[in-house]
Amino acid sequence: MLFDFPDFDNHELVLFGRDAATGLSAIIAVHSTALGPACGGCRMWPYANDTEAMRDALRLSRGMSYKNAMAGLPLGGGKSVIIGDSRKDKSNELFRAFGRVIDSLGGKYIAAEDVGISVADVMMMGQTTRHVAGLSGGHDASGDPSPFTAYGVYLGIKAAVRHKLGTDSLKGVRVAVQGLGNVGSHLCQRLADDGAVLTVADIHADAVSRAVEKFAARAVAPDQVHGVDVDVYAPCALGAVINPRTLGEIKAKVVAGGANNQLETDPMGEALRSLGILYAPDYVINGGGIINVSAEVTQAYDRDSVLRQVERIPVTLTEIFRRADRENRPTSAVADQMAREILSAAKGGDKKQAA
Ligand code: NAD
Repeated sequence: MLFDFPDFDNHELVLFGRDAATGLSAIIAVHSTALGPACGGCRMWPYANDTEAMRDALRLSRGMSYKNAMAGLPLGGGKSVIIGDSRKDKSNELFRAFGRVIDSLGGKYIAAEDVGISVADVMMMGQTTRHVAGLSGGHDASGDPSPFTAYGVYLGIKAAVRHKLGTDSLKGVRVAVQGLGNVGSHLCQRLADDGAVLTVADIHADAVSRAVEKFAARAVAPDQVHGVDVDVYAPCALGAVINPRTLGEIKAKVVAGGANNQLETDPMGEALRSLGILYAPDYVINGGGIINVSAEVTQAYDRDSVLRQVERIPVTLTEIFRRADRENRPTSAVADQMAREILSAAKGGDKKQAA
């Protein structure tokens, strides 16, 4: 039963979209609209089964509520997943059909890019709905969010390294980047520019060879990257990479990367803390992309002001790190509490307005 899903967490709505003609099977999850219309990326992934897809959509959607709240954006939290292989199953018709599903929500959910979905795909959805963002061309179009996500992650890694290792420079700092897609590759560039020493992994060999060549990175197998002897482990692929199987193998002192839902379960936050590993809460460090998208949604796109907002990410992270130290609590629990307080204050405001 959907309502009994551990990840359901009082979602406002979940919509299942099916279009037989194009083969579309999709789920849109809207966790909260307390702060504004729910906005979050669309992920295309060949999930092993519907339950896995559902769980991903729910967890990602709640993460977007927390992310938007912590970034101070006037947006609620939602996310969508299309079940399929982005390298094989894409078609213009499929994305137009998905646009119609988004449109049926009348603006309650606004879709943008996530894993497996490009700007071109979102543009195609935009042919059948105006409730999309992360577009190219046009007056307020914000384009690909991933360079902004990567910029925030880079600044967040610097803040975490400063807090944990006591150094302001990334020169010689060893970073393992897991996932060399949109975010991971931009992140590698910034880290390499600062003289960090990179270890990389991806399930696609072409992405790995590009990074090895471009950044003089060392390649390791995808199932080993979490355990290499480095200072920072930067997950930039899929979620649940911090789990009971990987935990004991992590040698890094800092876990800070762009992937959503890095902790398989909430107790993994405490597990990292007890091992002396500093964790940069994922939805805080990876907020750069949605900050960029938000400027398009609010029709006030200004690149400089987006960059200034992204530059707040390390400030928020440092506040979380210090509070976690003071209170002897996991950084993930401190961030969750801060996000929930912002959401309940907004809900309280809703009730007052309605009264
Ligand atoms: P992407 O699809 O461009 O890249 C993901 C990469 O990870 C791909 O190259 C893929 O081959 C690789 N990968 C998948 N499974 C792997 C594994 N087991 N080991 C190693 N590599 C693996 O996606 P992206 O946009 O770069 O997003 C990466 C992560 O960051 C996702 O978790 C996404 O939700 C999150 N994120 C992205 C943005 C954004 O702006 N794109 C914003 C916030 C969060």
